[in-house]
Amino acid sequence: MKSTKSAALYAEAKGYFPGGVSSPVRAFKSVKGVPLFIKEGKGAKVWDEDDNEFIDFCGSWGPLILGHNNDEIRENIYAAVAKGTSFGTPTRWENKLGQLLLENNRFVEKIRFVSSGTEAVMSAIRLARGVTGKNKIIKFEGCYHGHVDSLLVKAGSGLVTFGESTSAGIPDSFAKETLVLPLDRPDLLEECLREYGEEVAAVIIEPVPANNGLLLQQKSFLEELRRLTKAYDCLLIFDEVISGFRVGFEGAAGYYGIQPDIITYGKIIGGGMPVGAYGASAEIMGHVAPDGPVYQAGTLSGNPVAMAAGYASAKQLLAPGFYEEMEAKTQAFVKNIQDFCDEREYPVHISTIGSIFWMAFDRSTIRRADQIDAASMEHFKALHADLLDHGVYLGPSGYEVGFISAAHTPEILAEAAEKIKASLSRVF
Ligand SMILES: *Cc1c(COP(=O)(O)O)cnc(C)c1O
Repeated sequence: MKSTKSAALYAEAKGYFPGGVSSPVRAFKSVKGVPLFIKEGKGAKVWDEDDNEFIDFCGSWGPLILGHNNDEIRENIYAAVAKGTSFGTPTRWENKLGQLLLENNRFVEKIRFVSSGTEAVMSAIRLARGVTGKNKIIKFEGCYHGHVDSLLVKAGSGLVTFGESTSAGIPDSFAKETLVLPLDRPDLLEECLREYGEEVAAVIIEPVPANNGLLLQQKSFLEELRRLTKAYDCLLIFDEVISGFRVGFEGAAGYYGIQPDIITYGKIIGGGMPVGAYGASAEIMGHVAPDGPVYQAGTLSGNPVAMAAGYASAKQLLAPGFYEEMEAKTQAFVKNIQDFCDEREYPVHISTIGSIFWMAFDRSTIRRADQIDAASMEHFKALHADLLDHGVYLGPSGYEVGFISAAHTPEILAEAAEKIKASLSRVF
């Protein structure tokens, strides 16, 4: 693969931006080669500045469930842009998207639009604290919730622990408000709530943990989470920035049939434009300003162009059978590759839910972050580079999941599967 132009652009970018990027994972630090500068996307494919063509499984990290440059989204964006890009007032587009989302989601009654997933989570945490009058938050190791100060924490030593920050610039006093537990251990959650429940405002989880591999949880664990948070008067926050509109229109709440207290959204909700949101019952959302005392605002929140994109996207997701078809395609694709690996006894296990998949270089079921073998990522490194050479683009880290879009036809998926199988046989 030729990457002369991407390499030159990357060298230039390093003079402008830390690491040459606007978000760290884009810098290709955990894989070989230079970050590819993408100049165009259409459907399931992207093209880089060197005119290489790739079948894309990154999908802008999840938002592009309808593929690149979806016709209806683009047309709606054009229509909105033609009237101006931002007014800082309410607009009809907000109502349209708000109505569409709420009428088709049994788990939220009111919603507030923000501009990113991080902002949605940050606001949900503040809301939970405002509603309960408590300060501490419980999170799970292996779940990512954006770069909110109090959530950039990992477990310290010991099983039930106060967080240690994973970034410079976060005061210990903030990290101490966060307790970190392993996933898949309801016993430890109960122990933790017995000790700290009176101080815990909320338990936050990615109900489909998809930012550190795909750590699919048992439904019983999520149900236990719901039961325990109720028993200890803590709110349950589902961070559905990835799973929302991905595992179904109602996200993981709908998939598992569990009612959390607050849900955060991002990624797909904006149809490829920067949008996040948090929603809850009318009662809980009544605490948000200007109705209530929990302040939260945004100059560009509910931006009409972004709302128009989200609306055109959501409309298409509501087509009958949309999610069933996505899931069936994904399962056929995964089975094709998994069968091949099983026959050859390659140490590969692909986990999947909805249109998400993740390849672990291990044959056991992985439900917790500590079960991922860091050394196995060498296989991913080799696979990633080989796949780029053969026209398949995966997110540049073995801890990132792959996303399939509606534009990935069974033919494209079959072609990609052949390429991936050939790559795996070269890697092993
Ligand atoms: C991507 C993500 C975030 C952060 O969203 P940004 O838009 O990148 O700020 C938060 N939570 C989850 C579960 C995510 O996947």
